[in-house]
Amino acid sequence: MLQITNYINGIFEAPVNDQWLDNYDPSNGNVYSHISNSDAKDIENAYNAAKAAYPSWSQTTLDERSKIMLRIATLIEENLDMLAEAESKDNGKPLWLAKAVDIPRASSNFRFFANAITQFASEAHESVGMGAMNFTLRQPIGVVGCISPWNLPLYLFTWKIAPAIAAGNTVVAKPSEVTPMTAFLLGNICTEAGLPKGVLNIVHGTGPSAGQAIIEHPDIKAISFTGGTATGAHIARTAAPMFKKLSLELGGKNPNLIFADCDYENMMTTTLRSSFANQGQICLCGSRIFVERSLYDKFKEDFVARVKKLVVGHPSDNNVNLGALVSKPHLEKVVSYIEMAQEEGATVLTGGNQVTVGGYEGGYYLEPTVIEVTDDKCRINQEEVFGPVVTIMPFDDEVDALAKANGVRYGLSATLWTSDLNRTMRVSKALEAGIVWVNTWLMRDLRTPFGGVKNSGVGREGGFEALRFFTEPKNVCIKYE
Ligand code: NDP
Repeated sequence: MLQITNYINGIFEAPVNDQWLDNYDPSNGNVYSHISNSDAKDIENAYNAAKAAYPSWSQTTLDERSKIMLRIATLIEENLDMLAEAESKDNGKPLWLAKAVDIPRASSNFRFFANAITQFASEAHESVGMGAMNFTLRQPIGVVGCISPWNLPLYLFTWKIAPAIAAGNTVVAKPSEVTPMTAFLLGNICTEAGLPKGVLNIVHGTGPSAGQAIIEHPDIKAISFTGGTATGAHIARTAAPMFKKLSLELGGKNPNLIFADCDYENMMTTTLRSSFANQGQICLCGSRIFVERSLYDKFKEDFVARVKKLVVGHPSDNNVNLGALVSKPHLEKVVSYIEMAQEEGATVLTGGNQVTVGGYEGGYYLEPTVIEVTDDKCRINQEEVFGPVVTIMPFDDEVDALAKANGVRYGLSATLWTSDLNRTMRVSKALEAGIVWVNTWLMRDLRTPFGGVKNSGVGREGGFEALRFFTEPKNVCIKYE
């Protein structure tokens, strides 16, 4: 059976302890590969490789760095079909989605930061009347850690690695143990593109073992993490006494505010996507839908009817809207939330059941589920489910809509549907979120700051924000006569 080995110093190698974990295909529940169950010894090896590569990589010209990263981007594109198939098999997401979104975006991440680094500038401040000139040096940090989740595996892995290496750092990276495959395949691509050995080191294994060794490592000075809020809090507690720089992109419970004056058909089509894309396993999914009362009954009827038509099936089938959930424990967690919602008095309007797909009986399939709630403070409306489950509820006016939208501990993204420009401005400013989409969803321009407020995270990635995170600013003050 295929062994997913670590990529350290440009070489694929088994973990030092020779321990392996099972890697499951969510579409049928079968183990199809084994993954390195790495520990602190492998992280130390990866750190040493990254440390050795740093002096030379941090001095590579921007032109050379950029060229290598553009080659990686091109190779990802050239291997689109192979990578998309690997991503779909590892994660359970529809193959068409991996082809259209995940892999192209992984390529764009490298291409974007390959170009961005050539435009990254720093400030100068003349101290007028004092005979001094200040400028800001932006220097790479050294060896940095990148830890990513399972929902958009290569997409989010490269979202961190690309700015980190563009800025001149070297990296110890750990993808989720649940979806290691495309990160594993990226190793070969980096070698083929000519990335010097040790610049990127990919270590596989569990969070509590390999991940923990990264965050505890005293000389890995910055951590970029995307994952759950509880893990983010743990990382912050661990890293704070060592004064590590942290970027934490965490969970969400994003509101979708639908006003009666919206473009109804566009809203309906997009809301289906923002609810159930990637089986609802996107941190930016709009999992709480609030609809203006005058539109509520029509929306409820039409939305439920459209959701009933969504097709759940094997990820390789081009006609499916939803594939499999990522793992058995995750499926069980999502199902338990649906049961809990019903115990709390909410009404399942459609969905809620596991689906058996012929020929793939062991797969982790679930119907897209719409739950009507009467209290926006109930648990199903407050806690992140991270599956194909949305709640719906009416609101009375803008004030009520905002109170409900902001009435959670999360603040990642929000979506607003209205044709009123004044309302757009008022509500966008009042929403407690890092990203607000108006009359659209998941439209991303990589130059924009990305991240959340409240329990959805600390710091921003994207564009120059990411390059600022992965560099340390130093003020140089020159006195002149
Ligand atoms: P987790 O927090 O469980 O895991 C994220 C990553 O952290 C994984 O690689 C995991 O390893 C690792 N990890 C776990 N424990 C530790 C530890 N003690 N030290 C270091 N690393 C650790 O999240 P999920 O993988 O379940 O991802 C889903 C979550 O990610 C959701 O909450 C979602 O909202 C959030 N997310 C946020 C995004 C954002 O941009 N804000 C985007 C996408 C997802 P392993 O998996 O091997 O245990």
